[in-house]
Amino acid sequence: MRAATSNESQIQMATTKKNRKQCPAGHIYFKSSDCPVCPVCEKKRKPANDWMLTLAAPARRALENNGFNSLKKIAHCTEKEILALHGIGPSALPKLKSALQAAGLTFKLSTSNHE
Ligand SMILES: [Zn+2]
Repeated sequence: MRAATSNESQIQMATTKKNRKQCPAGHIYFKSSDCPVCPVCEKKRKPANDWMLTLAAPARRALENNGFNSLKKIAHCTEKEILALHGIGPSALPKLKSALQAAGLTFKLSTSNHE
């Protein structure tokens, strides 16, 4: 039996629209997910490199020495690249990950995942 599917091809929106949100403090921001965290408030609440304090000193130094003084810069790298820095141990990764997550960032996907 051959199922002849003659459905009209459904047109899907190719553009991923981000949701416009407004936090209680009045900041307008855009998020593609349902994450309710306002990036502006989040930034104000925490010191810029509070996340660094959670790291061991060698890991912190490794990041600083390589110019990774912000989570944004770290988000430009893959886990592997960060792990390759001298001084960064496997124990630093989960901390970095959660710090990135808290800032609405993630590690860059490895190139094999991304074409
Ligand atoms: Zn806000």
